Amino acid sequence: MIPAAFDYRRAGSADDAFAQLQKLGGDARVLAGGQSLIPAMRFRLARPSVLVDINGVAELDYITMNGALTLGAIARDSAVERASWIGERGWSLIHDVSRVVADPVVRQMGTVVGSLCHNDPSGDWPAVALAARAEMVVRGKDGQRTVPIDQFLVDSFTTAVQEGEMALAVRFPAPDDRTAGSYQKVERKVGDYATAAAAVQVSLNADGTVRGAGIALSSAGPCAVRVTDAEALLKGQTPTADLIRAAGEAAAKQSDPQADLRGSVEYKKNLAGVLVSRGLRQALARLGVQS
Ligand SMILES: Cc1cc2nc3c(=O)[nH]c(=O)nc-3n(C[C@H](O)[C@H](O)[C@H](O)COP(=O)(O)OP(=O)(O)OC[C@H]3O[C@@H](n4cnc5c(N)ncnc54)[C@H](O)[C@@H]3O)c2cc1C
Repeated sequence: MIPAAFDYRRAGSADDAFAQLQKLGGDARVLAGGQSLIPAMRFRLARPSVLVDINGVAELDYITMNGALTLGAIARDSAVERASWIGERGWSLIHDVSRVVADPVVRQMGTVVGSLCHNDPSGDWPAVALAARAEMVVRGKDGQRTVPIDQFLVDSFTTAVQEGEMALAVRFPAPDDRTAGSYQKVERKVGDYATAAAAVQVSLNADGTVRGAGIALSSAGPCAVRVTDAEALLKGQTPTADLIRAAGEAAAKQSDPQADLRGSVEYKKNLAGVLVSRGLRQALARLGVQS
């Protein structure tokens, strides 16, 4: 299939991209890696009348660590994957996911911010961003604002980015040395979306009890699901094998997947729970705690 006719504008800077989006109005779309938008246009699921291409905007192509880990709007999945220091400095969850999003060819073009703006319920980054308590930097007509990820991910394929706005970056708060994460994904083959996936981040107190946990699922509902019941169950507790199993069961219960070629509802719910328990065990092992 070929897309419906559209205009194409190449932005020279972030200001230029924003100005064009403001001028062009609601039917203009940002083109980042194009790995979701172009296929959607080819299948005529999306018919923007004009694309504003930000691929040439060097100032949006960065990965920085300044307290938070910040990824600019065209930081590619492959750049995150290559930045091994991200895992070494405690963002183990980010390091894990960067190796399993799609396949190496897609990761070469696809961007983390683009994936979050796309907000596919089967995408990997939305669940990771929820578990890691990320925040988005959005440019609107009143200037820049910071949006917590729970508020940014509104519904399937819908975010808090309004008409004429663009996302500039995503920020992941710095984990301390008692915090670790894990991303667990089951896919039918490399490059497939998750049958189920779990993003987990755990912080421990000095006495080994859980200070806080971020847990979220992909392919488990109409949007990435933050598993608040499992998070609450863990808080303040010693992470024993029984507790980890119970957290997995709570996650399975809170998940709401749909049956499709990848599996039945029962299978996917069970898998989500298993992956949460597995992710918790791996995150704890990274903190030197056997469970
Ligand atoms: C074969 C294949 C397999 C894939 N498998 C997976 C997978 O396993 N897991 C997974 O998570 N994803 C997968 N994807 C999707 C891929 O990761 C995409 O790259 C990602 O979802 C979108 O990122 P992008 O940079 O390509 O965004 P684009 O396709 O350019 O844009 C996506 C949407 O976000 C909007 N947008 C992008 N950037 C901005 C911005 N800065 N501000 C405002 N709006 C913006 C666009 O207008 C568009 O609506 C797969 C894609 C393909 C083609």
